[in-house]
Amino acid sequence: MKTEEIIELNKKYVMSTYAPGLVLVKGRGSKVWDADGREYLDFLAGIAVLSVGHCHPAVVKAIQEQSAKLIHVSNLYYTENQPRLAQALSERSMGGKCFFCNSGAEANEGLIKLARLWGSTQGKYEVITMKNSFHGRTLATLTATGQEKVQKGFHPLPEGFKYAEFNNLDSCRAAVTEKTAAILVEAIQGEGGIIPADPAFIKGLRTLCDEKNILLFFDEVQTGVGRTGKWFGFQNYDIQPDAFSLAKGLGSGISIGAVVAAPKLSDVFQTGSHGSTFGGTPLACAAALAVIETIEKENLLGNAHKTGALLLQNLQETAAKYDWIECARGCGLMVGLVLKDSAAPLQKRLQEKGLLTLATAVRVLRMLPPLNITAADVEKAAALIAEACEELNPKI
Ligand SMILES: *Cc1c(COP(=O)(O)O)cnc(C)c1O
Repeated sequence: MKTEEIIELNKKYVMSTYAPGLVLVKGRGSKVWDADGREYLDFLAGIAVLSVGHCHPAVVKAIQEQSAKLIHVSNLYYTENQPRLAQALSERSMGGKCFFCNSGAEANEGLIKLARLWGSTQGKYEVITMKNSFHGRTLATLTATGQEKVQKGFHPLPEGFKYAEFNNLDSCRAAVTEKTAAILVEAIQGEGGIIPADPAFIKGLRTLCDEKNILLFFDEVQTGVGRTGKWFGFQNYDIQPDAFSLAKGLGSGISIGAVVAAPKLSDVFQTGSHGSTFGGTPLACAAALAVIETIEKENLLGNAHKTGALLLQNLQETAAKYDWIECARGCGLMVGLVLKDSAAPLQKRLQEKGLLTLATAVRVLRMLPPLNITAADVEKAAALIAEACEELNPKI
């Protein structure tokens, strides 16, 4: 089909919840190609999903082999890959147990249900989340999301959520009541505009939660699986959460989500208390196992750390040149260029130049390249950004 035909068909039959920019037909590593054969350097990576890049041979092989053997049987039967993946996640985090689902919102729903079930014997059910956070689009997770724009039109919202200021411990303390079951936080607010949590804030949250018998949860849907240069974002803060959620990068393109709980919470969910038909299929877990193995084999935590620093340094140099750029910030390969006005024109210009990024929180150009991005590709992207900024300079 031709590009125009695909777009026409989409307009006619697909709900317009998104406004896609290109028709893409092929991906390999850090590159994608559109229907006209144009090549793009992909610094969006399916919104932090393609952790080891497009169609990594190890992931392709795992999917091919598993799909020829056993794709799905439901969780009414044991399969081998699911406990192997749970073990891999447990050993890299707090040593507890996992629950598998299919997406980030669903993983966060799992966290919310875990908090409520844990609190149900103590009269605790409230979950405190942060303003400007993002936790998903289901009713509970859009309520947890501290942004009115995702809640608009969907009232009445479920009860039991309270909001505090991100990076403001006093605000969190003030939101606590005897009904508070959990505090849910992102290590780096992603959709909110690449805003890292202050170490003192995270340490303070841990202490506050310990003092008040409250659970501390991390939404690691975007920051997890190596994105920040550590396995999980919270590991940059030298604390342990009671549980966290994963999704985006875990399957490098195959839908999979997870709730990972510390031993303290490992046995709160019992037979029948939560479930998912598709959660943790042999196929999805095979992909995730291949992702974890690849990250280790190719030292991608180290690469994310190193190439992320290189990207940030380049962007900081560009930012310093123009008074319409506020700063560059980020951690590992989760990086934002913060403008003083809309980032949409810059994103559009970069796409025309063959670099895919995303304008987030209006004025932040967000970059989430695959964890195996090379220094050469980072330099190439940084040069395109510097070039685009110079071209747009008189017009912004
Ligand atoms: C993307 C995202 C979600 C939602 O994930 P879905 O898979 O789209 O449901 C939740 N939390 C964070 C931090 C995210 O970045």
